[in-house]
Amino acid sequence: MKQIATKTLKGTIKVLTGLHIGAGNDRVEIGGMDNPIIRNPLNKEPYVPGSSLKGKIRSLLEWNEGKITDGEPCKCGGADCLVCKIFGTANNSKDGDKTRGPTRIIFRDAFLTDESREKFKTGKIIEEKAENSINRITAKANPRPIERVVPGIEFDFEIVIRVLEGDKENELVDFIKNGLMLLQNDFLGGGGSRGSGKIEFKYEVV
Ligand SMILES: [Zn+2]
Repeated sequence: MKQIATKTLKGTIKVLTGLHIGAGNDRVEIGGMDNPIIRNPLNKEPYVPGSSLKGKIRSLLEWNEGKITDGEPCKCGGADCLVCKIFGTANNSKDGDKTRGPTRIIFRDAFLTDESREKFKTGKIIEEKAENSINRITAKANPRPIERVVPGIEFDFEIVIRVLEGDKENELVDFIKNGLMLLQNDFLGGGGSRGSGKIEFKYEVV
């Protein structure tokens, strides 16, 4: 099996409503924010992990294609299943299945654009939003601040699609373009049902 081309979707992700991609709670400092966003440990800049984009886009495509069974991702491994072909199956070996070949897609981490990086250095691009989680029994509000990247901030993103011999190039590209559209109509990160995570992609295919 031979790789014959790569197609790259390259552009920006613009935050339209505050974006919260959680860092997890494993490094909470006492008195610190208990819902921090993920940041580059080297320069403390927020970023969008490729794994977050990949997971969300895969899941939206699976729902769209009716490939979710009992809340579980598709593991069919079928040669005609574009989800499994492009993203690999959950229990794939690293080299991928012999008939489908390797996973066709690479999601790079998306870092701040130059312009947004300047804003990060000189201003405030991260907000703390107080969210009330209401205890449904006592009806008592429990305020719980979450960190969000503010609207208007942009990240550079890159998604690489590997085209192998026998693949229909346009079919793979269109499938992922549709995934980006589904994500735009949905949300990225946490708090989507409470207004966070609306984003906009601008990109070209090269
Ligand atoms: Zn499948």
